[in-house]
Amino acid sequence: MQQQLYQRLEALYPDLVEIRRDLHMYPELSFQEVNTPKKVANFLQDLGLDVRTDVGGRGVVGYLKGGKPGKTIALRADFDALPIQDEKDVPYKSKVDGVMHACGHDLHTATLLGVAKVLSEVKENLHGTVVFIHQFAEEQIPGGAQAMIEDGCLDGVDVIYGAHVWSPLPVGTVGIVEGNTMAAGDSFDIQIDGKGGHGAQPHLTVDAITTGVQLVSNIQNIVSRRVDPLHPAVVTVGTFEAGQAFNVIADKAKITGTVRTFDENTRDLVEEEIKHIAHTTCEGAGATAQVTYQRGYPAVWNHPEPIRKAETLAKEVVGKDQIIHIDPSMAMEDFAYYLKEIPGAFLFIGGRNEQLLATYPHHHPKFNVDERAILHGGKMFISLVLDFLTSELKQSKSVRKI
Ligand code: MN
Repeated sequence: MQQQLYQRLEALYPDLVEIRRDLHMYPELSFQEVNTPKKVANFLQDLGLDVRTDVGGRGVVGYLKGGKPGKTIALRADFDALPIQDEKDVPYKSKVDGVMHACGHDLHTATLLGVAKVLSEVKENLHGTVVFIHQFAEEQIPGGAQAMIEDGCLDGVDVIYGAHVWSPLPVGTVGIVEGNTMAAGDSFDIQIDGKGGHGAQPHLTVDAITTGVQLVSNIQNIVSRRVDPLHPAVVTVGTFEAGQAFNVIADKAKITGTVRTFDENTRDLVEEEIKHIAHTTCEGAGATAQVTYQRGYPAVWNHPEPIRKAETLAKEVVGKDQIIHIDPSMAMEDFAYYLKEIPGAFLFIGGRNEQLLATYPHHHPKFNVDERAILHGGKMFISLVLDFLTSELKQSKSVRKI
């Protein structure tokens, strides 16, 4: 059945490209998706699936019940775009000013719709249920995943898979990571209050700039001196705003930054250290600090059994030589929330192609991918579904043989 479904997906490829390009031309920002979920829901309803809309806000969930009883597998695609001006020179360039599918979520959506169509055509032969999770707002904290989970999108689901088209990987490859896969991402904002004054009379002031400079410097000690070197962490100060005139001592400074970690203990430690260092550094200088620390998504942790299963199946889908074991990414993804609830894994599907100028990084104004990633990602999903929904049957057959 597998080969037959792959062929069916290939036959649908032109339609799926069209869907991807339509989404690409009409992107919608996180938490503002209106037409995208409508298009997705209409497509799934036309296939005869049970469809829930407005899940957790703007999410869409389709249920494909097989003709025979069995387990339940979920597949997830996100559908939001980014506040970026599309600078590509292609006929399907974004028609919405300042909004662009610059991360490939349009392609994720087209892929999952293709998989839903192919599987719906053979539903009588499926043992169990496939849940298609079309998620809103991946790009903006707090994200859509958590809200969709709270609204029941994982109820009764045994395993979940997600995939991201990945521009660093050549088209035709599949990237595999086990365990820590993508980092947890947090942000911080430190407001320093000193005492301003004349540039020629520093002894009468509390300089917010020199205090801030010390603070930025002290923060560097967190990763180098406080965090266990075997536990990856990044602390980046991204902005430092202070001062208004060359001869005035600034009374205020504002520092913002991002924190990336994998394990929760390191994450707690970095948060505590940032707060501690901000307060002690400012206190030592006679200033005060107000620290706001905002937690973003937790780390994506690929469960060993599901990711190994995906790797085994990838050998059949793209070939053994096309599997790339990649390093974890310090970027973040709210797919993390699903993997905190149930077993599953997140895959990377190669999308790079020099000839198509699809070489720019994610979130770049010229970002693009080779659309054949739809086929590779789609076949991975199909093979994962068939394998998971028939694994018990295979087991019972082999038991009988013995
Ligand atoms: Mn993304």
